[in-house]
Amino acid sequence: NQSILTVNQVSKVFSLSRKKQLQAVKELSFSIRKGETFGLVGESGCGKSTIGRLILGLYTPTSGTIRYRDQDIHQLKGKKQQHFRQKVQMVFQDPYASLNPRMTVMDIVAEGMEIHQLASGKQKREMVYQRLEQVGLQSDHASRFPHEFSGGQRQRIGIARALAVEPEFIVADEPISALDVSIQAQVVNLLRKLQQEQDLTYLFIAHDLSMVKYISDRVGVMYLGRLVELAASDELYRRPLHPYTQALLSSIPVPDPRQARQPKRVLLSGEVPNPIDPPSGCPFRTRCPHAMKICAEVDPTEIEDTPNHWVACHLYT
Ligand code: SF4
Ligand code: MG
Repeated sequence: NQSILTVNQVSKVFSLSRKKQLQAVKELSFSIRKGETFGLVGESGCGKSTIGRLILGLYTPTSGTIRYRDQDIHQLKGKKQQHFRQKVQMVFQDPYASLNPRMTVMDIVAEGMEIHQLASGKQKREMVYQRLEQVGLQSDHASRFPHEFSGGQRQRIGIARALAVEPEFIVADEPISALDVSIQAQVVNLLRKLQQEQDLTYLFIAHDLSMVKYISDRVGVMYLGRLVELAASDELYRRPLHPYTQALLSSIPVPDPRQARQPKRVLLSGEVPNPIDPPSGCPFRTRCPHAMKICAEVDPTEIEDTPNHWVACHLYT
């Protein structure tokens, strides 16, 4: 399957002061195939939102390149840049903060159509009604304001807004984290339905593996700005290799312990290190139950343990 987006050796360093630097993302490489859902998972501060913003073109990489349909997105200008901004959309974590409280649902969903000159007048309104129905809302919701809706409905409005400009690729940055658990599955199912209807590709960012499992074709696990493991979703769940992935997986509650195979619980000791002052060698070594001498000395590089299953850990070299 063809790649639609390629992240190649991307690093992002933020200067916090003259002496302090934060390496938010370090030498990240992966590509996303057309029509797939690529899950990106890690604790807060691991750099996953930064990579989302880099892909949207909101940040410029310190080094490395990001190519969308074979074009470096940070070199785009004029019409090509405009086209990119239309085709790559974002769904935010907090549906309330991302919707202007003074705009009606009609104006919120229609805004992008106007910016990209896709429709106007009656046609535009008809398209908004269509989008609302597509995300499970009704056309008479169009005249209302965001505060009149529940969290799940607001996220549907955010999704309708992203869909309105006919995107190909959606960066969904923790789109369900702020929602009640009972609503999360509904929004995930909606995203899946829309993916099939509209031939969409997703980057789905999340802080734990529980929902990512159901929506993703492949999953990348991030820790302190690095990609520590990358594999097909079912492979990653069946055979997690990196000690950090194993810990993340073992912390997912299993609803009925008699029915499902309960993974052995791996408890992580210690806090996530300060990314301004990361440990030498392997970034995970301060919390890893398997840390060895070499782990403090050498930063492990990614290796392909079995075909298409990548891991950065000395246990596998
Ligand atoms: Fe643990 Fe060492 Fe592997 Fe890092 S390289 S995850 S410290 S075993
Ligand atoms: Mg974030």
